Amino acid sequence: MADIHYHVTLLSPSAHIFGVHISIFHPNAEGQRLSMPAWIPGSYMIRDFARNIVLIQAATTGQSLKIAKLNKHTWLLPVCDGPLYIDYQVYAWDLSVRSAHFDTTHAYFNGTSLFLRVHGHEHKPCLVELLTPQDEQHYSCWKVATTLTPVCVNPQGFGRYTAFDYADLIDHPVEISPFSETDFEVRGIPHKIVLYGRQRADLSRLGGDLQQICEQHARLFGNLPVDYYLFLIMAVNEGHGGLEHRDSCSLLCSRNDLPRIDMVEKTEEYIRFLGLCSHEYFHLWHVKRICPEVFRQQSLMQEVYTRLLWVFEGITSYYDDLALVRSGLIDTKCYLGLLAQTITRVMRGAGRFKQSLADSSFDAWIKFYKQDENAPNAIVSYYAKGALVALALDLILRIKTEGRCNLDEVMRALWRQYLETGTGIAEDGLEQLTQEVSGLDLRNFFDQAIRGTEDLPLATLLREMGIELRMRPARDSKDQGGMVDEPSVVSAKNVLGIRLQPGTEAVISHVLDEGAAQRSGLASGDFIIAINGLRVNSANLEQLLNQGPSEEPLQMHLFRRDELLSFDVLPLSAPADTCELRLISDADAVSQLRRIQWLCPGL
Ligand code: ZN
Repeated sequence: MADIHYHVTLLSPSAHIFGVHISIFHPNAEGQRLSMPAWIPGSYMIRDFARNIVLIQAATTGQSLKIAKLNKHTWLLPVCDGPLYIDYQVYAWDLSVRSAHFDTTHAYFNGTSLFLRVHGHEHKPCLVELLTPQDEQHYSCWKVATTLTPVCVNPQGFGRYTAFDYADLIDHPVEISPFSETDFEVRGIPHKIVLYGRQRADLSRLGGDLQQICEQHARLFGNLPVDYYLFLIMAVNEGHGGLEHRDSCSLLCSRNDLPRIDMVEKTEEYIRFLGLCSHEYFHLWHVKRICPEVFRQQSLMQEVYTRLLWVFEGITSYYDDLALVRSGLIDTKCYLGLLAQTITRVMRGAGRFKQSLADSSFDAWIKFYKQDENAPNAIVSYYAKGALVALALDLILRIKTEGRCNLDEVMRALWRQYLETGTGIAEDGLEQLTQEVSGLDLRNFFDQAIRGTEDLPLATLLREMGIELRMRPARDSKDQGGMVDEPSVVSAKNVLGIRLQPGTEAVISHVLDEGAAQRSGLASGDFIIAINGLRVNSANLEQLLNQGPSEEPLQMHLFRRDELLSFDVLPLSAPADTCELRLISDADAVSQLRRIQWLCPGL
């Protein structure tokens, strides 16, 4: 029998309260400590989940016990011979993939939000009982979706589950609601999609498309290390996010991202959603099993530092869209369009000249996860630039070894290493392994790409694949670049070098380095009201910037807080920060073959 039992009660949907009862049958002899995690694996920010515990009490058989709080997330119970019983309530009102959310429509939780860690018992199996809701009439159609191992459950899934240790216990999110669902198989292994929220999605189409993506990833790694896999999707009005787990993933999306019954084409939003699913599924090998050595000893009490997040999020971001084209869900042109947009995103941040990928990984806790108005000028994304480094590395391997080696081979070698040793990878592990597998000396490449801040030689590398990369000014504020048949002719317009907050008013969210706004003294939060005496909103700003001769300064009026200020601003021409990719029609046969082997390796 497990030493630790957790009982979860759907206590009060209207107050958003889960009730948790823990039985510890053999508490530590010198007093029992209990802790809540400070963060959830996969999301590198201190969230202090203990803040949502609103009541906690303890008892032994027939006697209540005093609890001492030792620090923000640790409690100490007195020395006690008999079993310990702890009851606490958890407030759950964060509709995200990282936490817990409970109301009259559903209950969703991650174990990191609900389960106290029982010190000294972390490596022992535990039992979780999900109790049937009291108000049976309202909840009669609610059912449970989770990858926790069932021991004894009713047809709705309520009942007893088991986890082999605390790390396992907190790595299986749980959705309880009258969700929609569909199933498919990959290599004989059952997969389920569970969808919460009001939507009219074509579930069989979604299942078919996800099956192709999953097959693609399983083909890359050579096997599929799960007995069952679950996609938990929350469809809301607006949202986009995902979090990986060892046998499942949680996804948050807009209901408009999903394919409707009557929809034939793949919308941009649906392709982006498939990319997100592809990303989280890839993680089941890459970060949930292959992972940095330092993640093996993580206690979730404080930050864990690694310079390898670019390896786990960057390489995963590279393969997420690549799997869509390799599995035939999108064509080459569509894939290159997505790639061009990633390049544009990276090239629009001057922060890439100040922060290396290694530093971006290391400081994720205080920078990438805590982005402010200066983020584009100060940091680089280990997702987006990491994906471009993975691309550059893949192409270098393909070109320099004349097709003998590529990044797929490196991923398979990483996977073999994990299966043979079960250990995490050292901070220089990927660099060493890539050089071993390829036989190439890549020290200069890694120094520049990972620890340096120079731009990557993508134009040269893509040309060897028969693809032209061209940077040009943006056509308008919505222009993210893309794939073209012929080079676009775009004349550079006047721009201020700002980003606006969403909405109809022209309120500055970001002031970009070396732009006209920064040179003139405009700041984040400024509410622009007039240019040359004419009222401004977010829709007519571009037009008003381009109405006169470009060498003449514009008079701008704005509110900073409640103070009216006036500035003379000389707009600057839009920089060439927008990426356009084009297939070179007369590319030589070697380049064309390389491109086919890269994007359609099955052919
Ligand atoms: Zn990820």
